[in-house]
Amino acid sequence: MKIDALHMREVNMPLAHPFETSFGVTTTRRILLIEIEAAGISAWGECVAGEHPYFSDEMVDTAWHITETELAPRLLNADVEKGSDCPALFEQVRGHRMAKAAIENAVWDLDAQLQSVPLAKLLGGTRDIIPCGVSIGIQPTLVKQLEKVETEVSAGYQRIKLKCKPGWDEKVFEAVRARWPDILLSCDANSAYRLSDADRISTWDRFNLLMIEQPLWYDDFYFHAGLQKKLKTSICLDECIRNRRDAQAALELGSGRIINIKVGRVGGFTEAIAVHDVAQQHGVPVWCGGMLETGIGRAHNIALSSLPNFSLPGDVSASKRYWAEDIIEPEVTVSAKGEIVVPTASGRGFQVKRDRIDSITVRRHTCTPHH
Ligand SMILES: [Mg+2]
Repeated sequence: MKIDALHMREVNMPLAHPFETSFGVTTTRRILLIEIEAAGISAWGECVAGEHPYFSDEMVDTAWHITETELAPRLLNADVEKGSDCPALFEQVRGHRMAKAAIENAVWDLDAQLQSVPLAKLLGGTRDIIPCGVSIGIQPTLVKQLEKVETEVSAGYQRIKLKCKPGWDEKVFEAVRARWPDILLSCDANSAYRLSDADRISTWDRFNLLMIEQPLWYDDFYFHAGLQKKLKTSICLDECIRNRRDAQAALELGSGRIINIKVGRVGGFTEAIAVHDVAQQHGVPVWCGGMLETGIGRAHNIALSSLPNFSLPGDVSASKRYWAEDIIEPEVTVSAKGEIVVPTASGRGFQVKRDRIDSITVRRHTCTPHH
């Protein structure tokens, strides 16, 4: 397929509610969107890098630079047939996986539209519906935290995940468990703990958590293996899994028993599927994490979550939890049973609201092939 143009846009979208993790508070999302045009069709990708390099070493501005100077030229001057051609095309560029994923995922979307198949099917998806959980940010007070949990449990979400950090952990788990002894509950530390916390973390087995997500360093899975040996509760790995080799090494070491797959973190759908497959071969379930995506990234997460080993509820939830108005229609909705229906239309299955995107675009740039 010949790509006629790659459009880069930065949109600024205020979150409906501020989102706090162990590394800070987000109130507005700056997001790089990629649109590629080919054969009269328009396809989209979303770069999940944040405003600051706090979750990973990527950020919107590095992704913008690498896309413009390195990735877009490679795409536009190559002959790609499908999304899975992209990793080889981008291999010379080390890292920058979120930037790479935005483009690769747009190519998958394009391919699905050209073949008139749902993106989920093209990825190898087998589920018609996906189970949904929510990730609840750190709240200003315990009362507010319990109100948030109440809201999400009432909305039907199948798994509640609490963001935690030292000083905002045991008292919260205690209070939530006292009120909801039986819900599927987990926590996510985003690397806020150190080995000196291991004995204390091992006492969290009493909260019967489904998992403790990435408690130690963001780039570690060696010391996580030692911590996992002390725990009955499963460790879930997020930040430290960058590719299929990391997944294989971590599972062979026993660093965790669950993997959170974020398509941006691993560099695109091709690698996400490979990580999914490695986990499946080890009998380890995966689920799809969230990065405060707009509807475009959310649609891609829904498609990915339809793969067979996504057997735990993910963090893919309704548009309205994040945005007053999303940039797709219909917006993503979750049923009272905490499920999202996987679209059956061709491509990503949600229409892009171009007027809405135009109204929040703060910079744009178009890359075209050299002639
Ligand atoms: Mg996480």
